[in-house]
Amino acid sequence: TQSLHIIGGGMAGSEAAWQASQRGVPVILHEMRPRTGTFAHRTGDLAEMVCSNSFRSDDSEQNAVGLLHWEMRAAGGLIMEMADRHRLPAGGALAVDREPFAAAVTERLRAHPLVTLSQEEVTTLPASGPTIVATGPLTSGALAGAIAAETGQDSLAFFDAIAPILYFDSIDMSKAWMQSRYDKGETEEERTAYLNCPMDRDQYEAFIDALLAADKTEFKPGEASSAPDTTPYFDGCLPIEVMAERGRETLRFGPMKPVGLTNPHQPDVKPYAVVQLRRDNKLGTLYNIVGFQTKMKYGAQTSVFKMIPGLENARFARLGGIHRNTFLNSPTLLDDQMRLRSRPHIRFAGQITGVEGYVESAAMGLLAGRLAAAEILGERLPTIPQVTAMGALIHHITGGAEARTFQPMNVNFGLFPPVEGLKGGRRGRKDRYKAYTDRAKAAWTDWLAATRLDAA
Ligand code: FAD
Repeated sequence: TQSLHIIGGGMAGSEAAWQASQRGVPVILHEMRPRTGTFAHRTGDLAEMVCSNSFRSDDSEQNAVGLLHWEMRAAGGLIMEMADRHRLPAGGALAVDREPFAAAVTERLRAHPLVTLSQEEVTTLPASGPTIVATGPLTSGALAGAIAAETGQDSLAFFDAIAPILYFDSIDMSKAWMQSRYDKGETEEERTAYLNCPMDRDQYEAFIDALLAADKTEFKPGEASSAPDTTPYFDGCLPIEVMAERGRETLRFGPMKPVGLTNPHQPDVKPYAVVQLRRDNKLGTLYNIVGFQTKMKYGAQTSVFKMIPGLENARFARLGGIHRNTFLNSPTLLDDQMRLRSRPHIRFAGQITGVEGYVESAAMGLLAGRLAAAEILGERLPTIPQVTAMGALIHHITGGAEARTFQPMNVNFGLFPPVEGLKGGRRGRKDRYKAYTDRAKAAWTDWLAATRLDAA
């Protein structure tokens, strides 16, 4: 059987190596540590958790990341098995004792008869042979250069600040309205691309005061400057607090400019400033706040953004944040099997595909490992159902997300096709999430059965 090369032994690469080798496919896993390090990793172990030690919520009935845990366990995932084995008490969250966890993942893969660990940096994209690139947000400079040369410089994004994303159904539409600036757009999809939240003068001044006073995250040493050829802030990506510091009117002449818009709730009153939200997925369940990349701390973000009229009860699918990141514009570059369209022998997995988080990265490694193994074995896996957490994520990164504004994404229920006919409100939400997770578990169980992957 042909060998599968996996570059990067982090969350995604380790899981991919496990899944493929469990299918009987020989794997060569290339990991550059400990010989070559990154600014965040500290050890030479595989699957090192670089920052927090949390896999977040373990609730598989009410939480999308908890559902992802469930799906990975059902698929015999190595990362989940070792996380469970080295679990620390943390209420409803799955906290992990990081050192024994990473050591156990390393040991299990080292002991696997079909896995060869090659500890060196890979600096080019292999010309042939099935390959998975899972080198993460801190991909080494040489390989990042090779990927950028293949995909086009613009596609391999280095960025420092991201804007928050919120759920459409938590926006108060008695205050907000849908309209593109100057009514641009002909199709229904274009007309519903933007939502607007109006502010009067007092609201704007109070908002600027809150922005200036909010707690902010500062860069860690090396974090902002280690991306080649970039300044600390990615072009046009200044955090809003930094804009506000440059002058109280800067935002009103920038992302909050009130021009080309008419508030149908108060047609005679011209707003003093307008916060615009842009649809973030084709389903229309998620919206991001345009130009609102921020390095405010999470607690500060939720209280400051709830001052925006219409967002008083907003729920956030992802908060804004700041750190170095390398990721592909996957919706344009990858096919639905996570293969590079221009060189289909190469798949990508993990954070570099534009998912965000340990669990999401490992999940995409699980899928990439299974897809690559099936291809080597001459099988074709059935389509991964979009109603599962796995399917919602892979669908988002390979086609569901808007390519122009693509940014790394956590798993969340906004990525799932809606379940129709359920009540709204807080009570309704509980039922809705239960309906999502029930539907996902059934579909994932069927998919696993249909793929016959546990036969190995
Ligand atoms: P990684 O786990 O980073 O694995 C990539 C591996 O590839 C590494 O082992 C690296 O050494 C190796 N590698 C890189 N280049 C090469 C090369 N050329 N040749 C061979 N090997 C190579 N997520 C969370 O859920 N919680 C957090 O608290 C969190 N904190 C983060 C903090 C920072 C500073 C960063 C950068 C990210 C953080 N993330 C966090 C995001 C993300 O979930 C993790 O980075 C996650 O580890 C990504 O998994 P991955 O497998 O894609 O990449």
